[in-house]
Amino acid sequence: MMKFANLIEEHKEELAALDAIDAGKLFALGKARDIPGVVNTLRYYAGAADKVHGEVLKMSGQFHAYTLLEPIGVVGLIIPWNFPSNLLFMKLSPALASGCTVVVKPAEQTPLSALYYSHLAKQAGIPDGVINVVTGFGETAGAAISSHMGIDKVSFTGSTEVGRKVMQAAAASNLKPVSLELGGKSPLLIFDDADLNAATDLALTGITYNKGEICVASSRVYVQEGIYDEFVKKLVEKAKSWVVGDPFDPKVCQGPQVDRKQFEKIQYYIEQGKREGATLLTGGKALGNKGFYIEPTIFIDVKEDMRIAQEEIFGPVMALMKFKTIDEAILKANNTRYGLAAGIVTKDLNVANTVSRSIRAGIIWINCYFAFDHDCPYGGYKMSGFGRDLGLEALHQYFQVKSVVTPIYSSPW
Ligand code: NAD
Repeated sequence: MMKFANLIEEHKEELAALDAIDAGKLFALGKARDIPGVVNTLRYYAGAADKVHGEVLKMSGQFHAYTLLEPIGVVGLIIPWNFPSNLLFMKLSPALASGCTVVVKPAEQTPLSALYYSHLAKQAGIPDGVINVVTGFGETAGAAISSHMGIDKVSFTGSTEVGRKVMQAAAASNLKPVSLELGGKSPLLIFDDADLNAATDLALTGITYNKGEICVASSRVYVQEGIYDEFVKKLVEKAKSWVVGDPFDPKVCQGPQVDRKQFEKIQYYIEQGKREGATLLTGGKALGNKGFYIEPTIFIDVKEDMRIAQEEIFGPVMALMKFKTIDEAILKANNTRYGLAAGIVTKDLNVANTVSRSIRAGIIWINCYFAFDHDCPYGGYKMSGFGRDLGLEALHQYFQVKSVVTPIYSSPW
């Protein structure tokens, strides 16, 4: 695994380029952040491989008993297209460290880096058959994994709708356990005492990072009424200077959407927002005649029950709303079927502590956003799924626990 990580580090330029070509991701960011993230994750779990073990138990009779952690077996990894490298390695690395073999099904839109990684794995000396990459469509290759009798577990990242199908197929076949990392509609709560400059930066990055194609995007931004007007003014200024364009150009902040389907889905939601009566503050249009570029788009006058406030758009479209009190902020933040992430911007520790304990989401960022790391578990509450990726937490998804019991004396009865 360490050798594999070194090889990935040496080839980070090609890998970042493959993800940029396949998914429209920013090349510079891929090289500086995504691929180094892969390397760190792989090294982290390689380091953990010889430090996780079972425990000695205290049975009430005269027995010596202990647990063994055994690899769960063959694991199917089904990956979406928005972070083809990171989402693969946050599953592949703990699976390898636990001693499992894997069948990887990358998204049909973005298979190139997964194939390149398997080529590097071979060079690193990982035996044939340990990492198997099967490209193909979801309804065929993906479904074959979730319904296969010879696969012992499925770790899935993708939409809530497909997650449900994976779970049904697992139940209908060999009852394999599944872990599901699904969609989100994450709130960012900005309180009156926030630093306006930092808060507007966070809000804009929160919805435009990876062109809004990120499950934890802060697609619902709630601003306290005392700073609302000023916040809106500053946010619009920043959104207008946001550079959308070629993902290989280092000046660009936002690349193209992954494909025509996603591009059209986002435009559908923008039209839906207008039809439902929200006001388009800025953006709302496609850019240029070629490629799938969309302006950073901000809606105000959004009501809680509008589709743009409830459904995952997976694009650079923000629903900006107002709140008065901390209780109202908590209520609104939780008013979603999802529970993946949330952000809080305040200088008041009491507010930060109260709100972070009251929101039902797998990760809470206080005065930051998108702070991910290999040792920080994340995953969903509610319809954002279950199970955790990253951290030591994730390792346990790839182990079976076996108890071994033996009498201390020859006749303990
Ligand atoms: P998707 O659910 O359409 O596809 C995800 C993967 O599942 C792909 O590899 C696809 O081929 C496969 N698939 C499709 N149908 C299948 C089936 N019937 N059986 C088995 N596999 C099948 O999702 P997407 O459009 O690729 O990605 C976007 C979604 O992923 C968004 O909803 C987003 O929120 C979610 N996502 C979640 C996280 C997270 O960590 N929670 C991270 C990234 C993306």
